[in-house]
Amino acid sequence: MPGSRRLTTGRDGRLDTAAIRRCHPLREVVERYGVALGRGGGRPMGRCPFHRDREPSLALYLDDPADEHFHCFGCGAHGDVIRFVELIERLPFPAAVAALVGAGVAPPTESALRRPAIAGGRQPVTPCAPPDRVCLAAAIAHYHRQLLREPAALAYCVERGLDREALVRHRIGFAPVRGHGNDLVTVLARAGFLPARTGRAGLADPRGREFLAGRIVIPELRDGGPVWAIGRRLAGTGPRYLGLPGAKPLLGLAEVRGASAVYLTEGPFDRLTLGRWGLPAVALAGTRAAPGVLADLAAFPRIYLVLDADEAGREATTRLAKALGSRATPVMLPHVKDVADLGRRPDGATVFRRAVERAVQENEPHGRRAA
Ligand code: ZN
Repeated sequence: MPGSRRLTTGRDGRLDTAAIRRCHPLREVVERYGVALGRGGGRPMGRCPFHRDREPSLALYLDDPADEHFHCFGCGAHGDVIRFVELIERLPFPAAVAALVGAGVAPPTESALRRPAIAGGRQPVTPCAPPDRVCLAAAIAHYHRQLLREPAALAYCVERGLDREALVRHRIGFAPVRGHGNDLVTVLARAGFLPARTGRAGLADPRGREFLAGRIVIPELRDGGPVWAIGRRLAGTGPRYLGLPGAKPLLGLAEVRGASAVYLTEGPFDRLTLGRWGLPAVALAGTRAAPGVLADLAAFPRIYLVLDADEAGREATTRLAKALGSRATPVMLPHVKDVADLGRRPDGATVFRRAVERAVQENEPHGRRAA
C-alpha cells in the first residue's frame, strides 16, 4: 500500500508523531479503551488488555510528557500511545495513527485511510482536529429522542432527580444497544452523514458499533450546541463513565460564566443536582483537571470543591486546593458518597448548604484551621 508507506516514512517531518502524542495523552487513550487505572508504585496501573491479566500489570509512565509510555510486567508489551493503539486495534502503524488522529479511537475505514490529508501528503496531518459539531449535534438529537422512548433510561434519570424539563434543557439522551433498527450510524446516514464521518466524530467504529451504546448520554453544550459528551453506563459491563474522544471540557462552564462562586463536582449528575438547587456548578467528569480546565476554574473568585467523599476524591481535592490556592474551599460531605446521594434525600439541599457553611467557617482566617 503506497499510501501507508508514505505515511510511515512521513515520520521525518510531515507526520509529527511528537504532536500526535501530545494531543492524545496516553492516560486518556488507555482509559478510553476501558482500562481502569488505579495507582501502584507511584504510577497509574491497570489490568493489561494484551494478556489475561489477573492483577494490574500495566504501568503508565507519564512523568515526562515527551516520553509517555506504557509497560506490562506480565507480557512485556511496551511503547507509546501509538503503539498502544496498534496493539489494541491490531492495526499497522499508519492505520493506528489514522485511528488516533482522524477517528478518535475508532479504527479507520479503507476510505478514511485513502483520504488525501493522510495518504497523499498534499496537506499536513492536523493532529488535533476540531470536533465535528454538526455531526455531534445530530447524534445528540437522536440520543435525546431515544431517551424519551426508553422507560428504563427515563426511570434512571427521574431517580437522579431530573424532570422532563431538565432532560430537555440539558439535552440528555440515551444510546440504545444496537439491534432495534434505530442505531446511530443508520439514522445519521439517512440524515446525510456518511458512516466514516460518524466514525471520525468518535461516535462509532467502522462496523457501526456505537461508542456510547447502553449509556445515558450527557452532552456538554456551548453556544447552543454540543462540543463533547460523556456516557453513564445504565447496565452491563465496562467503565461507569465513558467520554467521547477529544479534550474533556469543564462540564457546565457555559451556564456559570460570570458567577462569583462556583461549585466543582466530580460527576456530571452531581453538577445537575446542584443546578436543580439553584447553585452554579461545574463538573470535572473524573478527578483529573487538565491545564485548560484549571485555567477555566481559576477565573472564578471562589471555588467550592465538592468532590466525592472517597480516597480518589480526597486526593483530587488536595491537588486542586494546592493548584487553585486561597480561592478554593474544600467542602466535606457528611455521611454520603457524593452530591447526587444528597440529591435523593428530601433534606439534601439543606444538608449541603450546612456543609458549605461549615467549610467556609473553617477556612476563615480566624477559624479553627488557622488556630
Ligand atoms: Zn500484558
